[in-house]
Amino acid sequence: MSDRCAVTIQNNQSIPRMFISGCLAGEWVRYDGGQQFHSVLINQMGRLVEWLPICPEFEAGLGLPREPIQLEGDPHNPAVRAVVSRRDMTDCLQKWAHEKGRVLDEVRPWGVVLKSRSPSCGVRDVKVVSVEGTKTRDGVGCFSGWLSESRPMMPLAQETDLSDFWRWQGFAEWVFIYQRWQRVERESLQRFHQRHKYQLMARHAGMAKALGRVAATAVSHAESIDDYCTLLARMMRLKSSRLRHVNALKHVAGYLPKKSRERAEAHRAIDHFSLGQRPLASVQMTLYRLASQKRLSYLQNQYYLKPDPLQLRIQRLGSRKQ
Ligand code: SF4
Repeated sequence: MSDRCAVTIQNNQSIPRMFISGCLAGEWVRYDGGQQFHSVLINQMGRLVEWLPICPEFEAGLGLPREPIQLEGDPHNPAVRAVVSRRDMTDCLQKWAHEKGRVLDEVRPWGVVLKSRSPSCGVRDVKVVSVEGTKTRDGVGCFSGWLSESRPMMPLAQETDLSDFWRWQGFAEWVFIYQRWQRVERESLQRFHQRHKYQLMARHAGMAKALGRVAATAVSHAESIDDYCTLLARMMRLKSSRLRHVNALKHVAGYLPKKSRERAEAHRAIDHFSLGQRPLASVQMTLYRLASQKRLSYLQNQYYLKPDPLQLRIQRLGSRKQ
């Protein structure tokens, strides 16, 4: 970690901290000596979270400026090589990532936002060159791949997710699920699951059911918390969709009394959402109000219907196109 990061950490202990690719933060660390300042992340999201810049290639000692590198070989286990000199940088970058793990554990960031398409930082769709020289976009950057494997629950996004409503909304949600997850013990697993039930259903109904089954065994099964964590981390990487939310919202509306004015209002709101005429957050607020009117405490306790205000503010920074 650079000295600059260390200073920032000490100054602002109370603000959520997140790591960000240094080049997105405007640091001149790209291979060509340039940067990729991202104004929404730094100027707008920077009011909500404290960014801690990080640059795997520079911090691993690859130099500045440096030769460009690329992923080569098997997309699931690629090597990282310098494009011209053909030097293999894989070990050097992996060694640095392992050392960085200690810093991550000390800082306990709420999430990480990395630069897309980079052979070190890209979260998905990174170029990989096969032995035969063909190029695919199946790769994951060396650092982000290490991060996903070693800390699967750590919320992870790349800057291009901001222009994809469902991806960014999913990331904001993941950040807060992760915060709550860190306080969960085996005894409280079932309650955690119950309060996230519809949020999880909106990601993937089948996997949410499987998680429910694992949570139900929590009292008798010592491994249940690890099994739950593995499945939950996989789910957090899934992108939701309007259709999946409609399904979850309809399940919520099913708790309102049949033929009641409240149920009719809920269905009207969901129909408008399914036609793209009403934003998701507004329908969630309506359902929360209706649940409160009917004193349905199970629904009132759902994080899906009453997200953290900071989550909503982070969500709003992304694309408005749902
Ligand atoms: S993409 Fe990652 S490795 Fe490349 S310059 Fe930016 S922070 Fe550094």
